[in-house]
Order: sequence, then C-alpha cells, then structure tokens
Amino acid sequence: MTDKLDGGCACGAVRYRLGSAPLFVHCCHCRDCQRQTGSAFVINALIETDRIALLSGSPVPVAMPTDSGRPHDIHRCPACQTAMWSDYGRRPALRFVRVGTLDDPAALPPDVHIFTRSKLPWVALPPTAPAFDVYYDVKALWPAASLERRRAILG
Ligand SMILES: [Zn+2]
Ligand SMILES: [Zn+2]
Repeated sequence: MTDKLDGGCACGAVRYRLGSAPLFVHCCHCRDCQRQTGSAFVINALIETDRIALLSGSPVPVAMPTDSGRPHDIHRCPACQTAMWSDYGRRPALRFVRVGTLDDPAALPPDVHIFTRSKLPWVALPPTAPAFDVYYDVKALWPAASLERRRAILG
C-alpha cells in the first residue's frame, strides 16, 4: 500500500498516509453528509486511527450537530479547514477518512451505498453496488478480516 494511499488537505499543511487498506468504504447519501460537504454524498474509508500516519500538520476536531443525536466530530486542517476524517460516536480508535482527500481518490471505491433514501435523483449507482435505504448489516457485508480488525479495536 504505502504511498498509494497518501492524502492531504487543500492548503498542503496536513499530509497523511494510510498504513493499509481500509476496513470498508461507505458512500453515504444522508442529509447530514450532503449538508456538511455541500454535495450529493460523502465517501468515507473506515480505518483504525493508528493506521493513519500524520506526515505533517494536525487536524482539529469540530463537533457537528446530527439528526441522530450521536456525537460526530469532523477533524479539519486548522489552516484551510478541509475536512480530513470523522469520529462518529467518539470512538477514538476508529476514523472515517474522507476519500476525496486522497491524492488518488479512485484507489478506494465504495463497498456500500447507505442512506439512499435521500440520494439525489440524478445520481445513478452501478447496478451491482450494494445499496441500502438506511444502514446495513455490518456482519453480513464486511470481509472476515475486516470484522476481525474491527473486533480488535471496538471489542
Ligand atoms: Zn490545509
Ligand atoms: Zn451520511
């Protein structure tokens, strides 16, 4: 993997490298993600926090209001405010890395589309892509190796 999974913010102050492939990649079409990105969806690569090597800079957490009431902190570049990754539910060992910040965002295509009930009507998904109105059964979709890694950090 190494430098194939490098990324950074818009101004260049924050640079990072993912130490391995992620656990799973979400494309989320919920209203929160649409508002927070100003776009149609967000693409999040779920990965253990200790597999994100900061090469420069230090993102700062910003607490977001959510429809669900569950805590959501977006970690942003302190200089240009680019959203680098999220912490959903204040779980320090797990990060949701914004795939659009990778130097090569095509490296991590979505494994699942979620909250498609609010998907914008002109977004066409590949017919074979797993897609769910709301959320999905992690144990049914994740590869065994990812479930094992998840157990190691979340129990
Ligand atoms: Zn920046
Ligand atoms: Zn969302």
